[in-house]
Amino acid sequence: MPELRAISGIGVKGPACFLLTIQGRNLLLDLGRGPDAARLPDLGGLPPIDAVLFSHGHVDHTGGLDQWQRLGAPPLYAPCPTIALAEDGPLTQAAPLDGRTEILGLPLLTGAAGHAPGAVWMRIGGAEGLLYSGDLSRESLLYRNDPLPRAAAMVLDCAYGTADEPLAAQITIIEALADQPLLLPCPAGGRGLEIAAHFLAAGHAVRICPAHRRVAQRLADHRDWLTPKGREMLDSLQGAGDLDPDGPLCGIMIAAGPNAERGASKPLAARIAASGGARIVLTGHVAKGSPAEALVAAGKARFHRWNVHPTLTQAKALVAEAAPRAMLAAFCGSAALAELRARTDWPLAHGERLVW
Ligand SMILES: [Zn+2]
Repeated sequence: MPELRAISGIGVKGPACFLLTIQGRNLLLDLGRGPDAARLPDLGGLPPIDAVLFSHGHVDHTGGLDQWQRLGAPPLYAPCPTIALAEDGPLTQAAPLDGRTEILGLPLLTGAAGHAPGAVWMRIGGAEGLLYSGDLSRESLLYRNDPLPRAAAMVLDCAYGTADEPLAAQITIIEALADQPLLLPCPAGGRGLEIAAHFLAAGHAVRICPAHRRVAQRLADHRDWLTPKGREMLDSLQGAGDLDPDGPLCGIMIAAGPNAERGASKPLAARIAASGGARIVLTGHVAKGSPAEALVAAGKARFHRWNVHPTLTQAKALVAEAAPRAMLAAFCGSAALAELRARTDWPLAHGERLVW
């Protein structure tokens, strides 16, 4: 019988890492690090791994790759845009995951997950196999998402637990803050470009950092991963200026480093915290122990979410589409998991293991 074990990613906002054992194969689905305190999955006691499949390039899904040799250096598979965006390390040598119809002799189906450049969901083993959502969004203005296929078992991105605020309402809140210069720290391979294009269309002066510019340039080679509107949004980014961390504080500033821990957001947030001149708005997970957490605690930054994971309404639709007989809700804490259990009729397994 197939079995899925969460090495990490259940009951906590932890790094993604799942072991799928099916038809004599052992596949790791994602191998992340963090997002809090650079936490790594416990890889002790794993069977020999036949391959590692990555859903997208974010560090909480790929940052454990420095453990790759320890795993015996198994073959790596990742979506084409994820490989193209990888700057160094073994991910640059991964084989394409999207477009394949089998993996190690097992039926494979992938589709766009709408969350980030090249983010995919993947179904391994056909309709009686496992559907792994990776991180998924149904609201992205930029990134395409495909309907889910049916699957006997499912691991679903439940990072927002039972939160149900739509992106449109969140955008209204963030836009109301743009009467002053705004620094928006973002992952370069994520919501940053979407936010930049949205503010450009709304008539704001927008500047993006070099890391965001690089992603925009690479995405031009992967336009089929974008929504029709997203292709126009990508083109519109030619109207965004270049953000210099030492330059003036004005307009909308989109800077890499979602927690002001690296990239252009680190020096800019430090400057603003010390001498003002702009608002700092964090729109994603505020990592424990990060500069972003300290900025919020000191009243120097505020948090307003920009959805890149499913709301409860969307999560319910996703479960209805896939119609699993057994599932795990991933990437949320134990309190959110208990609420999901109370507020849905999903076939949620107890613990960290699915057998079907
Ligand atoms: Zn992600």
